[in-house]
Amino acid sequence: MSTILNAFLDENLQELRDQGLYNEIEPVEGPNGPIIKIKGSDLINLSSNNYLGLATDEDLKKLNIAAVNKYGVGAGAVRTINGTLDIHIELEKKLAEFKGTEAAISFQSGFNCNMAAISAVMNKNDAILSDELNHASIIDGCRLSGAKIIRVKHQDMDDLRAKAKEATESGLYGKVMYITDGVFSMDGDIANLPGAVKVAKEFDLITYVDDAHGSGVTGKGKGTVKHFGLEKEIDMQMGTLSKAVGVVGGYVAGTQKLIDWLKVRSRPFLFSTAVPPGDVAAIMGALDKISASTELHDKLWENGDYLKAGLKKLGFNIGNSETPITPCIIGEEKLTQQFSKRLAEEGVYAKSIVFPTVPKGTGRVRNMPTAAHTKEMLDDALKIYEKVGKELGVIQ
Ligand SMILES: *Cc1c(COP(=O)(O)O)cnc(C)c1O
Repeated sequence: MSTILNAFLDENLQELRDQGLYNEIEPVEGPNGPIIKIKGSDLINLSSNNYLGLATDEDLKKLNIAAVNKYGVGAGAVRTINGTLDIHIELEKKLAEFKGTEAAISFQSGFNCNMAAISAVMNKNDAILSDELNHASIIDGCRLSGAKIIRVKHQDMDDLRAKAKEATESGLYGKVMYITDGVFSMDGDIANLPGAVKVAKEFDLITYVDDAHGSGVTGKGKGTVKHFGLEKEIDMQMGTLSKAVGVVGGYVAGTQKLIDWLKVRSRPFLFSTAVPPGDVAAIMGALDKISASTELHDKLWENGDYLKAGLKKLGFNIGNSETPITPCIIGEEKLTQQFSKRLAEEGVYAKSIVFPTVPKGTGRVRNMPTAAHTKEMLDDALKIYEKVGKELGVIQ
């Protein structure tokens, strides 16, 4: 090994460990459902993005297996050579319908979707106004595009307006985009899309919403853009197929023209193998389920409200979430990690999230209740929260 690399790794790993910032990964020994097995123990799972419980759904498993039997395990090529199967086209039609747009394009992950789509539309002559709490994949997508990145204060429409005015009137940039999460994954707040659209209209901004945590959750399951009725106003609706939808992948929905362009210019679509057929079939089944009934969606919200009310009553700081995402803000990084560790020892898996994922000093244990949890599971979790909270002095 290079001595320089060796020294670099030793020094930086040690620093992370000293600061309590090194994340130890614990493998799950079975399905990622409401109860998970880790190191042989069953734990109440409050850390997955499997909002509707679809990742382990029996019907979707059958659809996946049937597609594997028909098409095999892999798509065999990138989309633009001959990796586009008929079911990829069917999926994209379904996504467009789901999002209320003319067309859609699917990708292998939400992360590479942001890398793909932002840089296909924006370039070094452009500027991107980006909410300061946007997801890492948005930040990386913006960087890759080469556009000037202008950070906008979180959900601050006055700041957005001032920066949009400055960017468009400066004459320095060709196109200007505003990009935001639809639902912010660390705090659970919903983007002010009506406010953003108003500013976008005034300054002719391109609007891009990453609704990774909104699809299946907000807008009766159709997402945050639908929640506000803005399907005709948002230019690029990006989403993932890996959270509420329960499988893997990402997509952009928009006009036919936009999708035609992304199909020739987004690099992961051209240079990375297509989503496997089993996954495509399971995704379509999941979208059908979400469209056919709000039962899972309603259960998710009921569980989210129940958990939030319980934690609040115990005296925890649960921030300003407007969705089932329920942060329990502890503050200091090491205490946050200790809190999460004690929860796990008592039977609740709720992962600590600390710097650099969230700002320093705002460490939190983030809870993601799902439609698959029962009231008993949530009651058990609350009892454990009470015990650990008192033990560590987080609540009285
Ligand atoms: C999780 C997430 C992504 C990445 O999606 P994957 O499908 O997991 O790659 C992108 N954007 C946001 C806001 C996310 O929360």
